[in-house]
Amino acid sequence: MTQKEIAIIGGGPAGLMAAEVLSTAGHAVTVYEAMPTVARKFLLAGKSGLNITHSEDYDRFVTRFGAANQRLRAALDGFTPEDIRQWAAGLGTQTFVGSSGRVFPMAMKASPLLRAWLRRLEGQGVKILTRHRWIGFSQGAFTIESVDGLKTIQCDAALLALGGESWPRLGSDGQWVPWLKDRAIAVRDFRPANCGFDVEWSAFFRDRFAGQPIKSVTARSAAGTHPGEFVISRHGIEGSLIYAHSAALRDGLAAGQAMCLEIDLMPGRVIDRIERDLGRLDPKMSFANRLRKGAGLDGVKANLLRELGSAEDLQSPQRLAQLIKALPIPVARPRPIVEAISSAGGVAWEEIDARYMLTAVPGTFVAGEMIDWEAPTGGYLLTACMATGRAAARGMADWLAADKGSASVLGDRP
Ligand SMILES: Cc1cc2nc3c(=O)[nH]c(=O)nc-3n(C[C@H](O)[C@H](O)[C@H](O)COP(=O)(O)OP(=O)(O)OC[C@H]3O[C@@H](n4cnc5c(N)ncnc54)[C@H](O)[C@@H]3O)c2cc1C
Repeated sequence: MTQKEIAIIGGGPAGLMAAEVLSTAGHAVTVYEAMPTVARKFLLAGKSGLNITHSEDYDRFVTRFGAANQRLRAALDGFTPEDIRQWAAGLGTQTFVGSSGRVFPMAMKASPLLRAWLRRLEGQGVKILTRHRWIGFSQGAFTIESVDGLKTIQCDAALLALGGESWPRLGSDGQWVPWLKDRAIAVRDFRPANCGFDVEWSAFFRDRFAGQPIKSVTARSAAGTHPGEFVISRHGIEGSLIYAHSAALRDGLAAGQAMCLEIDLMPGRVIDRIERDLGRLDPKMSFANRLRKGAGLDGVKANLLRELGSAEDLQSPQRLAQLIKALPIPVARPRPIVEAISSAGGVAWEEIDARYMLTAVPGTFVAGEMIDWEAPTGGYLLTACMATGRAAARGMADWLAADKGSASVLGDRP
């Protein structure tokens, strides 16, 4: 094999995984990263417990990527959840399966894994240049802005792994979108994914209950019924249970529909029993007392019912029981993408061949969240980012081995 010069632009998990594969194959790899350090989002993900993959049945796992299930399948087959666990173990990070089936490092954090990963890359000769920001194409090359001024990067092949548009202060800010669009490459608009929603709370409810969790409930939308918990925020609703429904709610709102998330505040009790228990109480009793004695609900749950129910709903045992079992929370809009865990949208699949190469710019490959797919939280995001990083790296190695990468890169060849 002839050693080739590879530029990887973006040092998140997708880019670093590609760097690992290509340096293992003997290529000279340089990672260009805009921020002062690499993988900031990966590190932040580890702050609340790095959910690196999921242990559910693989046939189910591969259905978590919605419209992109088929497109991602080959990449996922090439780097399965079990492979991720072995890869992490190879870097000294043992993992465990949590009660929800989610997989975490024993230490929960991302930093020990990242440190070991960067040591491995360094040992394999990967050069990482931070504070090196790609600012566009220039005649068969990439223009990089660094503290030393502008550089023009010539390479045999390049990988863009620039991330989506959520949490832009960690580096993935979507500024690259116009540069691809200028090359007639379709990029689907980025939208918030795994995000909270605005709800028009009354000032009383917002001031009194923002920050409080609503635990042990189920939530229903077009995305199905899921158990879990969420948090009342000043703006609306947040948290893992909301994220599970966020794509369905977001898409419904975008289509102009009025959308509600339906909450069962007492999933363990049937409606008839709740109605009977409430019906036994003196109707002159205060609402708070009736709810506490009849249904065992108080605090934020009781006040959520009061906030969203009409006076008639709250008075009638039958209507109150219905509300307790299916309380519709009307959502106004998704929270801004800068707050979302991830983003939907990105480079359209029809622009990418089976090797993850942009057909409009031969020799330039893409990977990670910058491609048009989305997934719920649960370790699916990191798995697909790393799997596409590997798939793109293998695709690039094949393309280079076919001796197409000898001239300057970027669309010079058919
Ligand atoms: C709070 C939070 C918690 C999360 N928790 C989890 C979790 O537990 N499990 C999970 O699976 N996923 C989680 N995610 C999502 C996961 O972190 C991302 O999906 C993943 O990091 C995306 O990887 P990537 O390599 O595609 O992009 P990124 O990680 O976004 O990396 C892209 C890199 O490209 C660089 N870059 C961008 N533009 C340029 C440019 N012009 N020039 C040079 N460099 C550039 C950026 O600085 C960045 O370093 C979480 C996300 C957030 C925000």
